[in-house]
Amino acid sequence: MKWYQLKTEETAQKLGVDLEKGLTNQEAENRRRKMGANVLEDEKQTSLLLVFLKQFQDFMVLVLLAATLVSGLLGEYIDAIAIMIIVLINGFIGFFQEQRAEKSLAKLKELSAPLAHVKRDGEWVKIPSKDVVVGDLIKIASGDRVPADVRLTKAGSLELEESALTGESLPVAKMVAPLDQGQLEPQDQHNMLFMGTLASRGSGEGVVVGTGMNTAMGQIASLLVKTEQMTTPLEKKLAELGKLLIVIALLLTLFVVLIGVYQGHPLYQMFLAGVSLAVAAIPEGLPAIVTVALSLGVQRMIKRKAIVRKLSAVETLGSASVICSDKTGTMTENQMTVKEIFTPGNWYHVTGEGYDTNGAFYEDNREVLPDQLRSLLLYGTLCNHASLIKKKGKLGVDGDPTEGAILVAARKAGITDETVASFKIIKEVPFDSDRKRMTVLIEDDKGNRFSITKGAPDVLLARTAFIVDGQRRAMKSADQMKIEQAVARMAGKALRTIAIGVKSVPSGQTPDDFSLEKDLTLLGVTGMIDPPRKEVRGAIAECQQAGIKTVMITGDHALTARAIAQDLRLLPANGQVLEGSQLSNMTEEQLSDVIENVYVFARVTPEHKLKIVKAFQKKGHVVAMTGDGVNDAPAIKASDIGISMGNSGTDVAKEASSLVLLDDNFATIKSAIKEGRNIYENIRKFIRYLLASNVGEILVMLFAMLLALPLPLIPVQILWVNLVTDGLPAMALGLDQPEQDVMRRKPRSPKEGIFSRGLGFKIISRGLLIGLVTLVAFMTAYQDNPDNLRYAQTMAFATLVMAQLIHVFDCRSDRSVFSRNPLQNLYLVGAVASSMLLLLVVLYFDPLQEVFHTMDLSLKDWLLITALSAIPTVMFGFSKK
Ligand code: ATP
Repeated sequence: MKWYQLKTEETAQKLGVDLEKGLTNQEAENRRRKMGANVLEDEKQTSLLLVFLKQFQDFMVLVLLAATLVSGLLGEYIDAIAIMIIVLINGFIGFFQEQRAEKSLAKLKELSAPLAHVKRDGEWVKIPSKDVVVGDLIKIASGDRVPADVRLTKAGSLELEESALTGESLPVAKMVAPLDQGQLEPQDQHNMLFMGTLASRGSGEGVVVGTGMNTAMGQIASLLVKTEQMTTPLEKKLAELGKLLIVIALLLTLFVVLIGVYQGHPLYQMFLAGVSLAVAAIPEGLPAIVTVALSLGVQRMIKRKAIVRKLSAVETLGSASVICSDKTGTMTENQMTVKEIFTPGNWYHVTGEGYDTNGAFYEDNREVLPDQLRSLLLYGTLCNHASLIKKKGKLGVDGDPTEGAILVAARKAGITDETVASFKIIKEVPFDSDRKRMTVLIEDDKGNRFSITKGAPDVLLARTAFIVDGQRRAMKSADQMKIEQAVARMAGKALRTIAIGVKSVPSGQTPDDFSLEKDLTLLGVTGMIDPPRKEVRGAIAECQQAGIKTVMITGDHALTARAIAQDLRLLPANGQVLEGSQLSNMTEEQLSDVIENVYVFARVTPEHKLKIVKAFQKKGHVVAMTGDGVNDAPAIKASDIGISMGNSGTDVAKEASSLVLLDDNFATIKSAIKEGRNIYENIRKFIRYLLASNVGEILVMLFAMLLALPLPLIPVQILWVNLVTDGLPAMALGLDQPEQDVMRRKPRSPKEGIFSRGLGFKIISRGLLIGLVTLVAFMTAYQDNPDNLRYAQTMAFATLVMAQLIHVFDCRSDRSVFSRNPLQNLYLVGAVASSMLLLLVVLYFDPLQEVFHTMDLSLKDWLLITALSAIPTVMFGFSKK
């Protein structure tokens, strides 16, 4: 027997699961251990040894190793071994950096891995999809990706988009009844859900019958495209730049070698020096450090509750100039409480806070509970998916807070689960943000049928023919106006409004969706408050200072939206609120003409969001767009930074996004932007540091050769400098804190090159000075003691290292070195201190003196070194450039 031929009870029995309670946690754990995780077979991991060896595959490093080998064979053991060791240490550093980046990327992947909604020990919980086992009872709702193969046990208007498996992009309706047929292809198994396919509408429950490679998707897993390596635009740009720098470094090195040979230096000596210089000057470590800086930044973002799904978003975040944010849940708490209810002719005020069910209904300060009010709340409870559950001793809502609010209000009227137990749902037309309404067809215990529709008042009014005003009667235009006025009054107080209507249906009949939602009888309108999140007002103000415009997008009534936007100080006095209906009538051009002055989009559907993104982009903006539903995905994808909600978001929205907000909070977007700006600045900082250091190294050699001097630095020294500068200090710059004014600058233009804002000038000017002061140290010492080349080289070596270690502090700001407190970045202080200590060891430790051709220096020498090495930094500290 196939799963689709079995009845649901038979399936459950076969798989040993209770359809009410699901599996126990213990049983699930046993099964997971026995059958393995619910994953498709992974790509093969590259072995660590290979990753390590990869560090040495660089052409110049190979030439250096070969040259060292030759010099070793010629008898220069110490030099050869020292160079080998330095190259090896460099390799280790590269290896660890790569591992670190790899690990944090893997962690990221895990954090953004999909979740499944399963019932364990009688409770619905969200678990990582990989922990789903055969027999698990599972819940699927519109927007979810199916985590395993499932035999359906319940379905409410459930439709699946199965193109991932079958190639067919039209949604397929699903049902529960067994299929009494022989061999069926997956696309015909209408009571089965398959791993990797997408729920596009409705909801359902089912039992997992296959996981991992034992799924229909597992059978074709070998056909699946392998995950691509993610490279960000910046990494790409740097890789390109790296190639150019290699050519420049090689040409300059060649130049140094040729002049050296021309000036009479032995060819062999110049060759080794040249290769060492090339290895030192080529910024081969740059892409790895960029990845490390990006991933470290990403780690910091995780602490702030923002998960980056695409590394490229980190860079784009720094350029964001508009944030289009959902209102409900992102700017507000999404904790709704019904405060007012209007039934034609009567106003009621509802007391009680939050989800506390203590409260009562007042009309003109008199506690009341008329029949019509009670029916409205009863119907609101029937047309409802949420449930009230105890969380940590407090009552909370499982499901949509809007619906939860109605349940809480109904409790205040004495309506409980028992009250509604005798009603059965025959059919449901689910809520979505496009329709702005939901409808259920109900049958009571006497077989009477009626339907209930609840939704946005304007949407319902258009489908209303009757009202109840003491008794049921036709709605006149005066009634409609009164209701609209009531809605406007509620909305003006920032209340979200939901109307409830009913319609009786002949028993036994199941009319189509259209007739169910036609000629309704309107019972009334509820108004619920959803307080703004505390931190959002500050975050919006901070964005404003940072040149970023915040735009509210909501399905709510324009007046509700306006009231909340004003409360959040998002809407300036002359700012405009645009409604979905107006938006529909505008072309993209017309919209982009006015969009700069629009701050709130109300009563919009997800389709409008795409138009909004495009209009802003047309104006040259870099747009961040939030979303949570299936229909939000196209806009999320089209925006420059797609943002989805970790809690309330659907899988589809998450997959389309590049940033996931774990707490669904607007303020988190602001933190992520701040971090994004900082990461980019930190990358610029260490590019500046590394390249200026390299320029200094090449120039000192070049100048010395041009002046017919001996080599100011020997190969081991050059390599050592490279090791120390490329290592800890550069990494520490990647960990630098943002500058105070990072959120007071305009967004960075996405067109801006790496060297813009004077970075190129800084690299060359500082590099030039570092080279010059090193040369001066060398020449001074050499002139004093022409016989003691070792002394002069030690002086040059110490000055070069010190100049770089001082210059690193200058790299922390685009402004003067004095603008920042050096003690603020303790990593950097530590890195510089340990590099200095290493320098002292190399200078004063006897055995290493042999290796590095160094010697003891006197206090006088140190005074000169300190004075010279401070020049490149201090001199520019007083200028603006
Ligand atoms: P955003 O999250 O973008 O701010 P929203 O939550 O304000 O959007 P929707 O959820 O699309 O927007 O709601 C739009 C309107 O639909 C609401 O103003 C309300 O009148 C109605 N509505 C919301 N939720 C429900 C529901 N569960 N059932 C019936 N109607 C609803």
